Amino acid sequence: MSKNKKLLSIVAPAYNEAENIDEFYSRILESTKDLNLDIEIIYVNDGSLDKTIDVIYKQKENNDHITAIDLSRNFGKEIALTAGLDYSSGDAVVVIDTDLQDPPELIPKLVENWNDGYDVVNAKRIKREGESSLKKITSYIYYRVLFRLSDISIPKDIGDFRLLDRKALDALLKLREKHRYMKGLFVWVGFKQKEIEYEREARFKGKTKLNLLSLFNLAFDGLTSFSIMPLRLASIIGFLSAVTGFLYGATIVIKTIFFHEPVAGFTSLVVLITFFGGIQLLSIGIIGEYIGRIFNETKNRPLYIVKNIKHSIFFK
Ligand code: UDP
Ligand code: MG
Repeated sequence: MSKNKKLLSIVAPAYNEAENIDEFYSRILESTKDLNLDIEIIYVNDGSLDKTIDVIYKQKENNDHITAIDLSRNFGKEIALTAGLDYSSGDAVVVIDTDLQDPPELIPKLVENWNDGYDVVNAKRIKREGESSLKKITSYIYYRVLFRLSDISIPKDIGDFRLLDRKALDALLKLREKHRYMKGLFVWVGFKQKEIEYEREARFKGKTKLNLLSLFNLAFDGLTSFSIMPLRLASIIGFLSAVTGFLYGATIVIKTIFFHEPVAGFTSLVVLITFFGGIQLLSIGIIGEYIGRIFNETKNRPLYIVKNIKHSIFFK
């Protein structure tokens, strides 16, 4: 540790990554050794069911620049990440997955841009290895929809892999919402941002923890945290269907009074009832989603509970 060197914190959330942590560490060391920076690594064990925490503690024994945070249970990646950021002391932080899908070799390039004066350096994936085509397609569509609907411009195809200057980090840490969509929050804070491109690799070992349901939930959090467009959509559809219903009613009245046509009935009635019933339920559902989020936010619970923490020597 030297006084005049700047400190770079590397925040790495881990859920069942026991097989990856050692490889991760050596690749981080290898790729950061030529940087003129002190390095601190902050592992967050997100309630892993395997030996992840033991592997982390073992590394920590011989390396005092490691912080090991052991959460009391699985809180999900977005929150695990936040815990890591809370305990980082660096002048800048890099957020990176422990499964080595985000190549540590890119860190020097992130740092280079930071030195050039950028406060947030995002890594944009131009290729994704070892991911199902369903995931690629849904994520392609999702980012484009979100981009259109949200109030801020959330960049497309950017994961969590990025570097943040201390200024941007401090701003980010002021946002304590429970439904955390980090990708959006990173953008929301603003500052001077820059994108660099990389090819996303396949996982080193193990398989993805984010199943379709959790991705769906995350996608929904992204949408509802940064847009009230769905609510507006419900009002618009409601308005349009009311107008249609009115016009349809008027036609029937005119037809019966002036042309004495019998009102053809049952089928169209059933169709209309199910259609509008569906729209009503959908709108209530959308409102419910937002109310549910209000409910969760107002409970004011802490974001996470730390079971045990061993700080790095850089901790202040
Ligand atoms: N992760 C976590 N908590 C979770 C799920 C995942 O901390 O509940 C971590 C995981 O260990 C990995 C990163 O978040 O370092 C990304 O997870 P994963 O590789 O499963 O997602 P993908 O890369 O497939 O989007
Ligand atoms: Mg991964």
